[in-house]
Amino acid sequence: MKSQNIVELIGVIGELNTKNYSLLKEAIEKRDSIKFVSRLLNNDLIEKIECCPYCKSKSLYKWGVRNDLQRYKCKKCERTFNTLTGTPLAHLHKKGRWLSYAKCILDGLSVRKAASKCGVHRNTSFRWRHRFLKNVNKIKPDRLYGIAEVNEHVFAWSEKGCKRLKREPRRRGYKSLKYIPHDKRVFTLFCRDRGQNTYDNIYYRFSTNNITPALDKLITKDTLFCSQNKAVYLKYTKENEVRHGVLNLAIKETVKKDIVHIENVIKYQVDLQVWMERFRGVATKYLQNYLSWYREMDEFDFKISPEQILLRAMRPERYNTNHFR
Ligand SMILES: [Zn+2]
Repeated sequence: MKSQNIVELIGVIGELNTKNYSLLKEAIEKRDSIKFVSRLLNNDLIEKIECCPYCKSKSLYKWGVRNDLQRYKCKKCERTFNTLTGTPLAHLHKKGRWLSYAKCILDGLSVRKAASKCGVHRNTSFRWRHRFLKNVNKIKPDRLYGIAEVNEHVFAWSEKGCKRLKREPRRRGYKSLKYIPHDKRVFTLFCRDRGQNTYDNIYYRFSTNNITPALDKLITKDTLFCSQNKAVYLKYTKENEVRHGVLNLAIKETVKKDIVHIENVIKYQVDLQVWMERFRGVATKYLQNYLSWYREMDEFDFKISPEQILLRAMRPERYNTNHFR
């Protein structure tokens, strides 16, 4: 927009009614957002394209600009691509609304609320949400330090969004887990150290064999593993010779020797559940996305910016390094 046009616009703003004014404001915001997104993509903020995402050849040449994005052509395989090829944001339209959508993600808005706020269809809103969060799933801590508090949480299997349920419908009011058959439960393992690094993972069967591969990397010989005296954890610590701070569930023991407790991880679980209530149930196949979304916000003390969310989503999916900022 030329500066002269802006001056003319400001002149007429006084005459605009509220509806027109908000439309104008929205148009300007969208424009800024497009500029911002293009700047992210075409400057040094994300990794420059060095090789062809298809054949990894390094001989490329520029192939014009389309939809504000520089295109490249590979000399070897002759395929064309842009900065977003191979990232979760590839082929998504309406770049101008991405930034405000990232803000809706941070505000924890539901699919429909985010859709109406950004002026997109609810199906688009749903697709964007899971694309924006795809890369966050990969950012889990490699290991935990000092004292690791471990606990599990049970979710009921959910097929939210499916048109045909594969399970028996639940009876009204039967929300308690005791009414949910064992094969319709989903377990989440939470491990949190006192430096607030958190690891979460989903299991359809909660057994020592299933949780060992993840814990092998996270827990070292120096770590103090704190948990309740459940068979799964007792077997794991015995087999792997891990130092174990055990809390006796039968006598409702919550703290031992001042340092053995799992209060931090329990608080994390409770806060997560409160935060998840706004979505009124999430489908099990998307559960990990929501866990990661919360974990990401927690890692930044809930001060993460929409720009950071976008930047993460713009990384190629093969990118898998911890704690990049
Ligand atoms: Zn190529």
